[in-house]
Amino acid sequence: MRAHPAGPRHGEIPADHTSFVPADLNELDPAVWPRGAGRSGGVMTLAGNDVRDLAMTYGTPFLAMDEQDFRSRCQDFADAFGSAADVHYAAKAFLSSHIVKWLAQEGLSLDVCSGGELRLALRAGFPPEQIALHGSNKSQVELETAVEAGVGAIVVDSFDEIGRLAGIADARGSAGSASTSNGSSRRIPVMIRVTVGVEAHTHEFIATAHEDQKFGFSLAGGDAAEGVRRIAAAPGLELIGLHSHIGSQIFDPSGFEVSAHRLVLLLKSVIADHPELAQTITTLDLGGGLGIAYTSADTPPPVDAMAKSLTAIVERECQAAGLVVPRIAVEPGRAIVGPGTVTVYEIGTIKDVHLDGGVVRRYVSVDGGMSDNIRTALYDADYTVVLASRSSAALPVRSRVVGKHCESGDIVVRDCYLPADLAVGDLVAVAATGAYCYAMASNYNRLPRPPLIAVTGGTSRLLLRRETDDDLMLLETW
Ligand SMILES: *Cc1c(COP(=O)(O)O)cnc(C)c1O
Repeated sequence: MRAHPAGPRHGEIPADHTSFVPADLNELDPAVWPRGAGRSGGVMTLAGNDVRDLAMTYGTPFLAMDEQDFRSRCQDFADAFGSAADVHYAAKAFLSSHIVKWLAQEGLSLDVCSGGELRLALRAGFPPEQIALHGSNKSQVELETAVEAGVGAIVVDSFDEIGRLAGIADARGSAGSASTSNGSSRRIPVMIRVTVGVEAHTHEFIATAHEDQKFGFSLAGGDAAEGVRRIAAAPGLELIGLHSHIGSQIFDPSGFEVSAHRLVLLLKSVIADHPELAQTITTLDLGGGLGIAYTSADTPPPVDAMAKSLTAIVERECQAAGLVVPRIAVEPGRAIVGPGTVTVYEIGTIKDVHLDGGVVRRYVSVDGGMSDNIRTALYDADYTVVLASRSSAALPVRSRVVGKHCESGDIVVRDCYLPADLAVGDLVAVAATGAYCYAMASNYNRLPRPPLIAVTGGTSRLLLRRETDDDLMLLETW
């Protein structure tokens, strides 16, 4: 890859980049597009809504979330993992008050990793005992808010935090149960985040003894065992589980196999040292990271296959270690919210750039970009894009979909094929933008964040409205 001074991610696509030319540019691969996506008279429909009508009503760009797709993926996870497991939706992938309500209706638990996510969940009425709070640097206020609300677990991430939480427990204990809004004098339930030395992504995983990252307590260095000792020594804390999170966009369960093996060995030694913890440590949390198809080349395993693998792995490891099999918890974010959302843009300019060897790349500029989807710039992510406002029988042209920001790395879809008759004013749709797109959106170049709508049964409604000029001025002190 030829590096740009601003960094490799601005570089040219590698010569061996394999972008295949789709046989039919109008096809919507069901593995990539929302369950309710289709075409009617050539025009893309989302849960029965014509995308041109949606663009008329809400303006462009907009994100459309197929509500039934989201709910059905919640159900897929609940069914696949069954009653012996807890499925926690990872809020950081995307959260809004409506999502909180849907999750509650579907019976899932919720992981949050900041006071902001926690307050939204509580305000939207999510049962606090089904919330777990994560984060590598939780503030005193975030911890107090979580304890006061009575969350189901705080996943501790540092010795500092154990000390802070023990202090909060002591203060509550000495003030008596009158200090708690829910009147409970229960110990604070905590899990410990263990850095197991596994880093997994798609088909590869790396297993090392040490891991050079900010999260968790190192297993190999003995910090995890010391963390357990300190929690056990704090009368106000109750250790209810061991947690690990090994990566993202994972297709292959073998990384989970290594992490579960290491967590189970830790559990065994913890129980040997602190027999009383055998009663309280009920959960082995394997984290999130289950992958989805961004393009037709991605082949994630079905949820039930992944669930069977993970459950079998934990059972086998516990039997080998002579332990009672604990509850399993998983924390999917992307796999639930990613596939059901598409972003629809209007094309503003089209420019053909001549590359070496007479090759042409068509730059198709849309009315959003890295402010509504930074994943391509940040992670070199791949996406699928199609012409949505009509079908076309024209030949495919090698194209790149770019945004309107003043930044050459502002790429939405790096390498794709779009029909040769693509025109200014056409609508294009980008698939699988539900996770880490709106959640990571910014106001770069002072663009307003787009609206996010829900589509279901031929109807649509706003979940989040478009930001206005007034919104963008709100912080100015003039
Ligand atoms: C990010 C994260 C998740 C969710 O990851 P996905 O790839 O969206 O499934 C789950 N658990 C923890 C601790 C995380 O940090």
